[in-house]
Amino acid sequence: MIRETRPYERRVALVPELVPKLLGAGLEVVVEPEAGEQAHHADEEYVAAGATVSADAVSAADVVVSVQPLPAETVRRLRPGVLTVSFLPTAAELDLVRTMADARVTSLAMELVPRISRAQSMDALSSQALVAGYRAALVAAERLPRFFPLLMTAAGTVPPARVLVLGAGVAGLQAIATARRLGAVVHAYDVRAAAAEEIRSLGARFVELDLPSLEGAGGYAREMDEERARMQRELLADHVAGSDVVITTAAVPGRPAPLLVTRQALERMRPGSVVVDVAAESGGNVEGSRPGEEVSVGDVLLVGGRNVPSDMPGHASRLYAANVTALLLLMTVDGQVLPDFDDEIVAGACVTHDGEIRHGLTRDLMGEVG
Ligand code: NAD
Repeated sequence: MIRETRPYERRVALVPELVPKLLGAGLEVVVEPEAGEQAHHADEEYVAAGATVSADAVSAADVVVSVQPLPAETVRRLRPGVLTVSFLPTAAELDLVRTMADARVTSLAMELVPRISRAQSMDALSSQALVAGYRAALVAAERLPRFFPLLMTAAGTVPPARVLVLGAGVAGLQAIATARRLGAVVHAYDVRAAAAEEIRSLGARFVELDLPSLEGAGGYAREMDEERARMQRELLADHVAGSDVVITTAAVPGRPAPLLVTRQALERMRPGSVVVDVAAESGGNVEGSRPGEEVSVGDVLLVGGRNVPSDMPGHASRLYAANVTALLLLMTVDGQVLPDFDDEIVAGACVTHDGEIRHGLTRDLMGEVG
């Protein structure tokens, strides 16, 4: 397992607690020095769990696990046939994918693990979205200069904060649950009709807009056309204006994040209100949001998320490590990791193998790029 080197990455792909599971399957675990430091796991903890700490961890490995994709120079040093397991957003990493294919590395992308029930324990998109949603609600509560809960005090009654969550997938639902636990009154909207019931089951109110739902394949949303997007923004503007906090998590797989909240709508919010845009890195749901930055729009604070799960590296790493471990154990036979490409989980997650780009969409994108 490598020490992550990309900026703003504090997570680690394997935590000491899960090392015995891999050892129990007959694997050896070798960890780069200080790999877990930013997630608060010292080298000694890995050693106590049965791993070895070595600066040569990567060059000697048959399997390399990481959170972020490996640097290209590391890939070039791998032996042909080595397996890598990491997040690998292929559309943004076409050069790296080409390098992996040329190095004859077998690469599996955690975001491509099919979301079927057998693969739930390997679903890193969900585990990290859960962290992001929780975190977004806490950031909002911390930045808001007002209480979240209803308080009845001798000095008078404080009304609860009104929180609006836009996008109620895994991250949005966790933001709703967290804001509710803190005592806020929560409203939420999603383009998928199925989200309404989930929103209500968490004690939040579903915002009904007079618009058709946009259910796409695999339980995901479909992209809106520009006319529907404009109408949605207009219809949501009053709900935004009436909220103390807006948390946005809307995404469409493979597309930039949809713009849901305009600057005009922000300017109508009460002074001191807070907006947290979890989707800031993928284009942003809120006009003007910038990843990793806090921007003032009049007297409204707009917080742009940047690698939000990494802000809680302890549990984000623990959950991610469980996903990676489950995937490794699926492929382990008699102490050897042997990917079975007839298994839809392995085949679905595979980006490169044996010098080829196996992932169809990535191959198409490569063709388009030239
Ligand atoms: P995601 O990160 O792709 O998107 C987040 C949310 O944004 C989604 O709920 C989407 O409908 C919503 N959205 C998109 N465009 C929007 C718009 N214009 N306005 C408002 N909301 C918009 O989604 P996700 O969190 O990864 O999960 C999406 C779905 O997949 C959910 O139904 C979830 O329950 C399901 N899921 C299934 C499994 C499984 O079966 N194993 C695992 C995880 C998630």
